[in-house]
Amino acid sequence: MDKNQLGDILNFYRGLGVEYLNIKLNKKQSPKNTAKCLEKLKKEVERCRGCDLYKTKKHYVFGDGNPNANLMFIGEAPGASEDEQGLPFVGRAGKLLNDLLKEVGIDRQEVYIANCLKCRPPNNRDPQENELKACRPFLDKQIELIKPKIIITLGRFALTQLLGSDKKITQCRGVVFKQQMCTVIPTYHPAYLLRNPKAIEVFVNDLKTAKQYLGDFNESNN
Ligand code: URA
Repeated sequence: MDKNQLGDILNFYRGLGVEYLNIKLNKKQSPKNTAKCLEKLKKEVERCRGCDLYKTKKHYVFGDGNPNANLMFIGEAPGASEDEQGLPFVGRAGKLLNDLLKEVGIDRQEVYIANCLKCRPPNNRDPQENELKACRPFLDKQIELIKPKIIITLGRFALTQLLGSDKKITQCRGVVFKQQMCTVIPTYHPAYLLRNPKAIEVFVNDLKTAKQYLGDFNESNN
């Protein structure tokens, strides 16, 4: 919709006597602005004491990628390599993710990757409810700033954070969830693929689905 069309619509409502419209525009800021806001948020994360994980972590792992990404991946929590480097998905699971992205022609530099938790749970244990709750506002803010068209959730924790605690990966994988602000495509966690290589084909298909949706989105915006 261009400015003139929007003006016509607003004039139409004004003619009906409506003086105030509460419209939340899902429009991206400039990439530079988004990058600035993300930097600010990263500094907030680095001061976080919302749960005890900050005491045992080496580095906070905020997230990484293109601030203007239309495709965002959400994982679970940093592992040992991520904790060492302060970056998401740089260990074995990340290398597999990189290879599979390459296979379907998705450029990792073009996407944004974040985790539900920004600190590594000791010995890679599952995230706890209080930790997810403490970290959740940071993830929400990342999504709000980046405004991706598609979110791929990797594994069960990202799935339940995005779509609700009743959701099961076995029921949701293969379903595309069209939410108000973006489309959510749940899939397996790359660490699961390392243990179950037979699931790689399904995962690749999910990436292809996301790529297709992105293509459709780009077409409709040209
Ligand atoms: N697993 C995750 O969920 N996130 C990472 O960053 C690495 C491994």
